[in-house]
Amino acid sequence: MTTKRAIIVGAGIAGLAAALRLSQIGWEPLVLERSPARRGGGYAVIFSGIGYEAADRMGVLPALRAHQVVAFDLAYLRADGRPRFTVPHSTVRKVLGDGGMALLRGAIEDVLYEAVADQAEIRFGTTITAVSQDADMVEVALADGSVERADLLVGADGLHSSVRTLVFGPEERFRRDLGHVVAAFTLDELPGGAPERAFTTVSGVGRTFTVADLGGGRSAAFFTYSAADPDAELAKGPRRALQQEYPGPRWAVPELIADLDEEAVYFDSVSQIVMDRWSEGRVVLLGDAAWCVTLFAGYGSSLAVGGADLLGAELERHSGDIPAALRAWEAGLRPEVVERQRKGRANTGVHAPRNRFELALRDLPLRLATVPPVTHLLSRHLRFHNEP
Ligand SMILES: Cc1cc2nc3c(=O)[nH]c(=O)nc-3n(C[C@H](O)[C@H](O)[C@H](O)COP(=O)(O)OP(=O)(O)OC[C@H]3O[C@@H](n4cnc5c(N)ncnc54)[C@H](O)[C@@H]3O)c2cc1C
Repeated sequence: MTTKRAIIVGAGIAGLAAALRLSQIGWEPLVLERSPARRGGGYAVIFSGIGYEAADRMGVLPALRAHQVVAFDLAYLRADGRPRFTVPHSTVRKVLGDGGMALLRGAIEDVLYEAVADQAEIRFGTTITAVSQDADMVEVALADGSVERADLLVGADGLHSSVRTLVFGPEERFRRDLGHVVAAFTLDELPGGAPERAFTTVSGVGRTFTVADLGGGRSAAFFTYSAADPDAELAKGPRRALQQEYPGPRWAVPELIADLDEEAVYFDSVSQIVMDRWSEGRVVLLGDAAWCVTLFAGYGSSLAVGGADLLGAELERHSGDIPAALRAWEAGLRPEVVERQRKGRANTGVHAPRNRFELALRDLPLRLATVPPVTHLLSRHLRFHNEP
């Protein structure tokens, strides 16, 4: 039997996980990444559920564990930096349970890249410009004018996927904006006064700001605010948009915004991708390209790795019949994606409370979380929400 070949567009978490899983079932993956080099960086994420189980099966769990943030408190401050309350790390640990961990998003990418670098060809600084397929093969034209053929094309190129646009139609057809914008970036050092080993959050009506000390000199910041017209916010660029949204004297914020490197900031609208189907013949979408659940669901990395693992399992099970494998894969994964998207929409007010009432409601469970019986109850609840 000839070796099956997959072209994977995007070297983010979804693309690298797919390359690793497909190489493990004997496929030959070719990964095409638009950035000239590895992007890395990012913010802190919770990695759990099907992603955690998949990482175990794919053999990368020990490496991921080596990067995890072991003990962190959740500290809540007022806008001027005075403390409000803290959820201690012992409670956070109980809430996360044994099947979850906090990591920098870039660390997940690093681990997957190390695992797959010798198993797959990864080409940086390139993308695709056209896709065509017949019953036997899929063919893609690359930006440099060359052509590649494969048994399967995986679009793992994120929220603004080109594969989706080329094969399924324009982004507007599938994008559901949740009326928020996010900006996230890594920091060279923690702002003065930020507690060590903590995720420190300042929430106000319509906006949240968090700095996370992840240990080992790693730290990250992220901002989320509500926006009636997210595209207009993006057009301003991260510095101007954040200065307008977080004005005046506040703890840490003005310095962070003044120092940020606009090129290195993840700055995007918080949008879900909702599609009736994720495959068309020999083309399949994976990760944010297919179903972006958003940071409000706190499960995107986990779904990307879990989805890649299940894709490999179904392709192996239906060897030779790719459309059948893709149908089985989607049937297996869709219920969880739909539920996570629903949770993401429901959580909008949790990350950027819409009014003072929601702000108070958001804080209440976190204050109660320090009381042992509530910790136990909450652990079942929050394990599902997976909020950092
Ligand atoms: C602030 C924030 C917090 C989050 N928190 C969590 C959390 O707590 N838990 C969690 O699980 N998830 C979280 N997520 C989501 C998570 O990071 C993503 O959902 C997950 O990484 C899946 O990404 P992906 O690989 O599908 O897409 P991406 O990470 O967007 O990767 C896509 C890749 O494709 C490349 N690319 C794009 N277009 C092209 C093209 N045309 N040609 C070639 N390459 C291309 C990009 O350069 C990139 O490398 C969070 C997200 C944000 C913004």
